[in-house]
Amino acid sequence: MRRFWLTVATMAVCAAAGAQQTATHKWTIVVHGGAGVIQRVALGPEGDKAYRKSLEEATMAGAKVLDAGGTALDAVEATLKVMEDDPLFNAARGAVFSAEGHNELDASIMDGASLKAGAVAGVMHTHYPISLARAVMDKSPYVMMISTGADNFGAKVGLQQVDNSFFFSESRWQALVKQLKQEGRPVPPRPAGAPPEPGKTVPVAFYYDEAADPRSHGTTGVVALDRSGNIAAGTSTGGMQGKMPGRVGDSPIIGAGTYASNQSCAVSATGSGEYFIRLGVAREICNLVRFKGMKIQDAADEVIHHELEALHGDGGVIALTPDGQTAFSFNTPGMFRARLTEGGKITVGIYNDEQ
Ligand code: ASP
Repeated sequence: MRRFWLTVATMAVCAAAGAQQTATHKWTIVVHGGAGVIQRVALGPEGDKAYRKSLEEATMAGAKVLDAGGTALDAVEATLKVMEDDPLFNAARGAVFSAEGHNELDASIMDGASLKAGAVAGVMHTHYPISLARAVMDKSPYVMMISTGADNFGAKVGLQQVDNSFFFSESRWQALVKQLKQEGRPVPPRPAGAPPEPGKTVPVAFYYDEAADPRSHGTTGVVALDRSGNIAAGTSTGGMQGKMPGRVGDSPIIGAGTYASNQSCAVSATGSGEYFIRLGVAREICNLVRFKGMKIQDAADEVIHHELEALHGDGGVIALTPDGQTAFSFNTPGMFRARLTEGGKITVGIYNDEQ
């Protein structure tokens, strides 16, 4: 078992005057980078190290916001932006491909203090889908927008627009080609604008063979608690590899893949989205906390290990309560994950035999 510890005792507290809050709570952040058939043998020492480093960097980006007195909502967005830019994760850059060879991106965010939420599905041009979800929440009268309309809204509110090939990564492309061939489905042409195919002598920077788990993991999610006692949740993904264009999973569905309420908990999910939608997983967990008085770990385990398994669904969640209790729960061999509480040490885990 390998764990990486990093003290934040030395982190500079540089609270901006405007962002300073009355400190009544110790901040906490919990991060996931997807669940699935993630095994030591497939990941290898190099992959193991790379994912742990990325998880730590993302967590520290959110921790920095919280430590400076920022809100849980800002910490969730800041962390997810780092993960969206990291090709190791299935979100924005590095997202999985649809069967037609495009990256269709889904994201959502929710504020536990106000119950305000924003979500986008099937977007293809906004650099940071999580910021687009945030803009839907903050700058539109809606909760959810899709596709071209959502991207156009992003452009209108000043969010950077990019060609779809911006999200291209060689390892995801190769994983798609492999999956489609295995399933006897047509392989679309290599996307226009993608870098030329590396020759046999040009190694792909980091290649994780995902053949064991065609769902292709790497969805990203964050839950955070700020010093004011407010919680928030966010999730960003490219969805399921080889999906039909137009398919939308649980990640942008408020109550399924993402939920936050100061009256109960904050949850971000990852897994086979159809099951998470049917069970309303994120809200279900929070309802068990709120109406049955369950501890967050028990509530998460009840939904993942009983309700989800009863439907033969797979995946996991991260969860957090306003009093700082945290939980991981997953029924897969692994879930990329990390957590950190103010003044504590970061813990990063991957496999199901780690804490
Ligand atoms: N839940 C995501 C979806 O169904 C995928 C994942 O988390 O791996 O789109």
